[in-house]
Amino acid sequence: MEFATARNRMVESQLISRGIKDERVLETMRKVPRHSFLEEALVSQAYNDHPLPIGEKQTISQPYMVALMTEALELQGHEKVLEIGTGSGYQTAILAELAEKIYSIERIRSLSAKAQRILDKLGYFNVVLVVGDGTVGLKEEAPFDAIIVTAGSPDVPQPLVDQLAMGGRLVIPVGDRYTQSLMQVVRVKEGITKTDLGGCRFVSLLGQHGWEDS
Ligand code: SAH
Repeated sequence: MEFATARNRMVESQLISRGIKDERVLETMRKVPRHSFLEEALVSQAYNDHPLPIGEKQTISQPYMVALMTEALELQGHEKVLEIGTGSGYQTAILAELAEKIYSIERIRSLSAKAQRILDKLGYFNVVLVVGDGTVGLKEEAPFDAIIVTAGSPDVPQPLVDQLAMGGRLVIPVGDRYTQSLMQVVRVKEGITKTDLGGCRFVSLLGQHGWEDS
């Protein structure tokens, strides 16, 4: 099947059918070539309804999870966004289509380098990739209008809350090592509000304000 056809089907059967409504998110998921972020042997599975391995024991999230998290960031186009967990760079590309400037932190250098090559090739030049521990955020570029964490955390890291602009949205899976709840945290005048968007399962966020690396 042609990739574009596969993407349209993915959007209909996996995203719209499960309640994703943001037209800009749906349009972007129809457009970004997810298969370009995978190794050759997995390309035929690129638009299937599940996560896939990307090397270094990490995974590219299920398309629905990418759409759900992106929708919860409520992007309109003018935002400065921080992503923790670049991984394959697929979610980064989605964000690059939907906001003005993206900073994405990855702790594994080889994954960041691979993602950089693919993002360059596809022409995403509003993205800055950083290698390091994303649980401390990126103070020199704060505040961010939106922050997305694509690895599971024991708690909401305080530095990320501190680096949110007023009204900014942080989307992060919080729970134990095996299952988490997807949380949307919004910074408001009085502090923060938290909304539980449902259960999920992510690889672990390792670092100073995440899980210990063992
Ligand atoms: N969004 C990615 C998902 C990658 S999986 C994609 O679409 O492909 C989560 C990633 O988070 C892994 O690559 C892992 O190495 C990274 N990670 C885990 N802890 C991290 C930390 N403290 N800082 C930065 N990246 C981290």
